[in-house]
Parts: sequence; C-alpha cells; structure tokens
Amino acid sequence: MLGPVILAASRSDRMRRFVSAAPGTKQVVDRFIAGETVDEVVPIVEDATAKGLEVTLDVVGEDITTVEQSHAARDAYLELIGRLKELGLGERAEMSVKLSMFGQALEGGHELALANVRPVVEAAAAIGTTVTLDAEDHTTLDSMFAIHEELRKDFPQTGCVIQAYLFRTEDDARRLAAAGSRVRIVKGAYKEPASVAYQDKAEIDKAFVRIVKILMGGLGYPMIGSHDPRLIAITQDLARQAGRKLDEYEFQMLYGIRSDEHVRLSAEGHRMRVYTAYGTDWYGYFMRRLAEKPANLLFFARSILTK
Ligand code: FAD
Repeated sequence: MLGPVILAASRSDRMRRFVSAAPGTKQVVDRFIAGETVDEVVPIVEDATAKGLEVTLDVVGEDITTVEQSHAARDAYLELIGRLKELGLGERAEMSVKLSMFGQALEGGHELALANVRPVVEAAAAIGTTVTLDAEDHTTLDSMFAIHEELRKDFPQTGCVIQAYLFRTEDDARRLAAAGSRVRIVKGAYKEPASVAYQDKAEIDKAFVRIVKILMGGLGYPMIGSHDPRLIAITQDLARQAGRKLDEYEFQMLYGIRSDEHVRLSAEGHRMRVYTAYGTDWYGYFMRRLAEKPANLLFFARSILTK
C-alpha cells in the first residue's frame, strides 16, 4: 500500500525539499548512494572490483528542465569515464544512464538525448566498456528503444533494460534476445497504471520468469537485475536448462542491498555486477528504494525523528 504513495511523492517538488532538508536523511541516503563525487565513488569501485565484483555506475539525476543540465549530465559521465581510464578500471566498470537526465523529456528531447548519450557511449567503448540504458516510466520507452537501436548500429554492445511489470515486455524480450544484445531484466520501479502493467506482485514474478526464459533461450547476453532469492534460484535453473555457461549471463544487484548475496554469488562463480549510484541529485533514486521496501521507510522515519 505504501509503495505507490512513496512513488507519487518521488515526483513532488515539495516532498523533495522536505526530504532533502530533513535531519537524518543523509544517514539513510548513504546506504543506497555511494557518494556525491567521482572522488568518493572511486574507492568504492576499487573495493568492489578487488572483491571480484563488477560494477555499473549511475550518476544520479532525472527530470531535468534545461538543455544546460542535459549537457552537464553528459559531462559528468565523460568525467567519470576519464577517471576509470586513468585507474585502468574500464573493463570492470560499465555505465548505466537514464535518458531523462540527458534531456529526453524536453522539447526535441529524443534527438537531444541521443546527441548527449552518443559521446558517452563512444568514450565508454574507447576504454573497453559499455553503457546500459535504464528503463524509466512506460511513456519514455519507445524513445529509449529507438535510441538503443540507433546506438547499436555503431556500438552493438550497448545494453538496455526491460521491466517485467509491463504487458509489452515479453514482446520486447523476444525482439531483443538476438545475437550480441545485452539486456537487463528487472521487475520495474515506477508507478504504472493497470492499463499497461501488472499490479500484483505474484503476476510480476510470473512474468519475470517467462521473460528470463525467453532471454536465456535467445542468443543475447541476459543481465538479471533482482535481489529476490526465489527468482535468482529459478534463473540459475533456467540458465542450466538453456545450456548457458556461467559467463554467458550475469546477476546484478543494487549497491547497499543484500551485499552478502553479491559476494556469495560471485564466490559461486557467477558474474555479479553492483549497480552503484552516486551524485547529488539522489532524490528520485532514493525514493524508489524506499518504495521497494516499507521497512526502509520506517528506518528513514526513525532516523529523522531521533535527530
Ligand atoms: P523485490 O521482491 O522487490 O525484493 C526482493 C528482496 O530484496 C526483498 O525482500 C528485500 O530483501 C530486498 N530488497 C529489494 N529492494 C530493496 C530495497 N529497496 N531496500 C532493501 N531491500 C530490498 N527498475 C527500473 O524500473 N528501471 C531500471 O532501469 C532498473 N534498473 C535496475 C538495475 C539493477 C541492477 C537492479 C537490481 C534493479 C533495477 N531496477 C530498475 C529496480 C527494479 O525494477 C526493482 O524495483 C528492484 O530491483 C526491487 O525488485 P527485486 O527484484 O529486488 O524484488
């Protein structure tokens, strides 16, 4: 019940101001956000890769309102890629981007987002890594998939995300499960209407399994983004049944969530990539993490009240 309310609040400027200013917020934000600057995130990347984990880095931000902000987002990724190059971490760290942060929702936003993301994808390729386009709310997805297709003409390793809660996703999975593709499947983190998305958790889980089956049976590289132990076990079975070796798919989890599981799956020989978000514009990302688990909200409320 609380999830949809928190997701609605994630789009409210008033709530943004309240949450950002509340004493105690930082303590909770720090659990999910790996720092505010490149300098703060670099040691976290070094630590994760030393443990045998891989990372995908997200400079947090979305819903920007000016072209200048979209350029700043592009430049923040270029700065990050420059640092990864200096540190020789290019092959262990990929990038995740939200096209809304690159200007997708502004006037002429489709072209603007493509123009902003292309140099990032190019710079990533130059250091031996790649970029995955995150999936945002359903109204943005046709544009995201079109940008993905366009980028793949020059950079075929560019990945994208599909969301199990959407009715459309099984068709998208079939289209994307082709040779050379990299597709992350997640349950989905936005507030979506019943006209386009399953609302029931059990229905979403069933769809997730059907989609993993499609991806495992296809020719692409599936990336399983979930912390759900049952779905992880099912994925392992489906991968075995499809005859996939351990390096022919990967698991992904979020920084700060089920960290023991990151290490356990990696020690079992799985490729485990930790989605590591950093930056100052953390509000939307943080609120989606609160919405996923009501206990986080209690923890948050307690930390505000005890400050
Ligand atoms: P759940 O059933 O939600 O959780 C299973 C268990 O994991 C819970 O019982 C709990 O123990 C733990 N857990 C899950 N979430 C939390 C949390 N916030 N805090 C504490 N514990 C938690 N969504 C998109 O819409 N677009 C994207 O591009 C996208 N990219 C993602 C990338 C990665 C690598 C991951 C892991 C998720 C991504 N998501 C994205 C979010 C995703 O859609 C889900 O909202 C999120 O992963 C929670 O679903 P779950 O599969 O972990 O299962």
